[in-house]
Amino acid sequence: RTYDVLVIGSANADLTVRVDRRPGPGETVLGTDLVENAGGKGANQAAAAARLGARTALLAKVGDDAFGEMVLDGQREAGTELRHVLVERGARTGTAMIVVGPDGDNAIVVSPGANSRLLPGDVTDARAAVAASAVVSLQLEIPPETVRAAVAVAGETGTRVVLNPSPVPEVLDPALLEAADPLVVNEHEARGLSGLDAGTAADWARALRARGARSVVVTLGAQGALALDDAAGDPVAVPGVAVTAVDTTGAGDAFTGALATRLAAGADLADAARFAVRVGAVSVTRAGAQPSYPTAEELD
Ligand code: ATP
Repeated sequence: RTYDVLVIGSANADLTVRVDRRPGPGETVLGTDLVENAGGKGANQAAAAARLGARTALLAKVGDDAFGEMVLDGQREAGTELRHVLVERGARTGTAMIVVGPDGDNAIVVSPGANSRLLPGDVTDARAAVAASAVVSLQLEIPPETVRAAVAVAGETGTRVVLNPSPVPEVLDPALLEAADPLVVNEHEARGLSGLDAGTAADWARALRARGARSVVVTLGAQGALALDDAAGDPVAVPGVAVTAVDTTGAGDAFTGALATRLAAGADLADAARFAVRVGAVSVTRAGAQPSYPTAEELD
């Protein structure tokens, strides 16, 4: 296969400003200087995988604006193959406007821009790339019909699907759930999609498997992760790595990119989760999303 990991998903410019107090309706407050970073779950996961040395490609759509250049620069720096990034004339690159309050709490407005123009036809056009990839990694920041098309093509080409259903819908399309091997969810997503308010991560993972997911990984922040494989039966708890967390932005994407990298290399689910927990832990010790992702050497 040409690629270890093909990420099909979103690419954004993250624009962040900090405020002492959140503005009410009709109110203006002063914030700090604006910080611009490349972001979006798709672009983040691709950067994480490429940084770790996986042969990685990104299928995404950006506009022909300065933010699109920023996204491309981020991927170039990580070492991602860029030939499948589509640049749409006259479109705006997706933008996340992030206001960080005094307690570190985020309020975010996303303008999807070119992400909403990544269409099923773009995926079918890239069929050869899907066929040439060991793993395709998907999230839900692009149109749902495009994600469905990706799952359908991956099914035809026998490419393994890693699905991170974020932002989490009320109900996940059964076709997506049944393709997920694994479904990668954080606690909030696991609880919501399993329909279980109470219970443990193992309960949520079992419920999600019962609903059709081929395998499940639940990320647990500082507590690490839990992996439930199809064959093994029993969930494997992977303890967290104790670090001083500086900025958890994009930790979930670091985890998923790392997991996909290891699965593409033939690791079993629990081994891949152990590796991803270490990568996630490194990413929270440094500022930003993509700039915080480690290389394989740094991990050692
Ligand atoms: P985010 O939304 O911040 O990107 P998430 O909610 O999707 O993250 P988490 O479960 O919070 O996902 O974190 C993903 C992984 O990152 C964890 O499995 C763990 O490996 C690592 N991680 C996150 N927070 C910490 C922490 N405080 N200490 C150590 N590792 C962490």
